[in-house]
Amino acid sequence: MSILAVGTVAFDSIDTPFGSADRVLGGSASYLTLAARHFCEDVRLVGVVGGDFPDEYRRTLADGGVDLEGLEVEEDGETFFWHGEYHYDMNERDTLDTQLNVLASFEPDLPESYLDSDIVCLGNLEPGIQRDVLDQVDDPEFVMADTMNYWIENTPDSLRTTLSQVDCFVINDAEARELADEPNLVRAASRIRDMGPETLIIKKGEHGALLFTDHSVFSAPAYPLDDIQDPTGAGDAFAGGLAGHLYQSGGLDPEALRRGVIYGSVMASFVVQRYGPDKLLDLTRTDITERARSFRELAAIPTLVPLDKQLA
Ligand code: AMP
Repeated sequence: MSILAVGTVAFDSIDTPFGSADRVLGGSASYLTLAARHFCEDVRLVGVVGGDFPDEYRRTLADGGVDLEGLEVEEDGETFFWHGEYHYDMNERDTLDTQLNVLASFEPDLPESYLDSDIVCLGNLEPGIQRDVLDQVDDPEFVMADTMNYWIENTPDSLRTTLSQVDCFVINDAEARELADEPNLVRAASRIRDMGPETLIIKKGEHGALLFTDHSVFSAPAYPLDDIQDPTGAGDAFAGGLAGHLYQSGGLDPEALRRGVIYGSVMASFVVQRYGPDKLLDLTRTDITERARSFRELAAIPTLVPLDKQLA
């Protein structure tokens, strides 16, 4: 079994009220693959960078164990660049600049060795490129996708077409409201599921995540942290942890999805503790297992006794 992830590989500049970082390694595919790699030996990246992409960043991904055969280099072009600014409430952020650069003309051509991928993660990227990748994979077992307000606003029709082809869609709460044109999250979820994805996950930053399926709604907590440095990449690390767990559990039943949401939240909780994806490189399996256990304890609700019995 293998996981394929397509997305951006980027230079990110990040400002928060407490510090900043300039042109660090970023991009949806970087965070997604580095997170998934903790669960799966065979994680394949599809993306594009320019001739300005430093060897050091390439090594970061390679040392993280990510297969880079599908990372194209446009020697004459510049790497995708994103500049984000977080507010005092770090759940709020503004995009100050997005430069597509080499992404604007990217036509992915998958290496032969990628065509048999089992789980396909369409990371945050132009929805037409997401479909170009999906069309090339022979017979994926499970297709996940993510997006961002940029694509909801700039390529709404193309995004709808991609949505009709995915099993599981992962999106944050503000984007869910925008996409569905509906302020109530439960009603927004139902509208988005009508667009195609059977499973929908709505991430709510430091308020956890909601999983919507045909059968039920599941609510996962977020981990209370006292050292959040940079929330960038949390959504992509979430997707990587989810895909990784689904790969490990070898099944896509409702329990595996629920556990996947917890492992996604675990990976997101680690990534925000440092600028860029560095924290993902230092993690051990014990770190991940212990934090997953803490999540379980955090959400444990004791047995509830009916009110009439309590009063008797
Ligand atoms: P997240 O914090 O999980 O929403 O993802 C942030 C990452 O997405 C950053 O590393 C950016 O480089 C990347 N990014 C920002 N804007 C876009 C976009 N329009 N399309 C694809 N990736 C993007």
